[in-house]
Amino acid sequence: MSHAAEGTRVQKHIGDPVRDNAPVARTKLEEIFADIQSDLRFDHELNGCLNCGICTATCPAAHYYDFSPREIVQLLWTENLEGIYDAMQEKIWACAQCYTCAARCPFGNSPGGLVMLMRETAIKHQMKSAKDVLRPFSRVMLKLISTGNQLSPDMINKDHFADWGPNISKVDAPLKLLRKAIPMPTLNTTATAWEVNLKTSVELYTIWEMTGVLKQLEGIDENLYDVISDIMDEKREDWKDFLADQEEDKDE
Ligand code: SF4
Ligand code: SF4
Repeated sequence: MSHAAEGTRVQKHIGDPVRDNAPVARTKLEEIFADIQSDLRFDHELNGCLNCGICTATCPAAHYYDFSPREIVQLLWTENLEGIYDAMQEKIWACAQCYTCAARCPFGNSPGGLVMLMRETAIKHQMKSAKDVLRPFSRVMLKLISTGNQLSPDMINKDHFADWGPNISKVDAPLKLLRKAIPMPTLNTTATAWEVNLKTSVELYTIWEMTGVLKQLEGIDENLYDVISDIMDEKREDWKDFLADQEEDKDE
């Protein structure tokens, strides 16, 4: 079969959006781009592109992965809908969000910021790449909701950080004992990094609700969302009980 008959790499991967039987309809591609473009930050992050490649030359992720901020910016600047969708399948998740590119771009673009918009859109559209990338973070989300901490000492162990290689042995220490040696009582635990009070936790739930974070989570991982919702309900009940107790104490 000739190359022409097989189609381009993009066509092979996502199908030709112009064909009737395209796996991804053109309307869907347009909808995704419209979501990226309609974000308030879009015009601030993209002012044009010289295609000079300075961003890619300074990008740490480009040194290690099949990823180029120049390519991402060009796709958005030329409104290459198929290419944008293709990049959202994998490439955008290689960015380390260091923003070296934004500091160097002669046009004042922020390729890293544009990648962030594409990631948020991938989550909104429940793309498989977003689900795959975010799945390992479920225990971080659980920890965050239940304790207000993203990471606690008991999460740093060999099972969870296999990618650290031999260096993981450096954290294989008697953490409980070491934490007890810290003078502040709130740090004498390995289950949390520090204590977050109930009021702060409940306020955070409201922020996540109002900013749409929880809704996005529901789309990405429904089971995790259910577990988290139960924890939030419990904490909110605890907070109400605490306030009721305060009122009672005042009346006495
Ligand atoms: S985004 Fe900026 S640095 Fe990167 S290729 Fe375009 S003009 Fe050059
Ligand atoms: S923010 Fe992303 S694209 Fe920009 S230099 Fe850092 S890793 Fe590369």
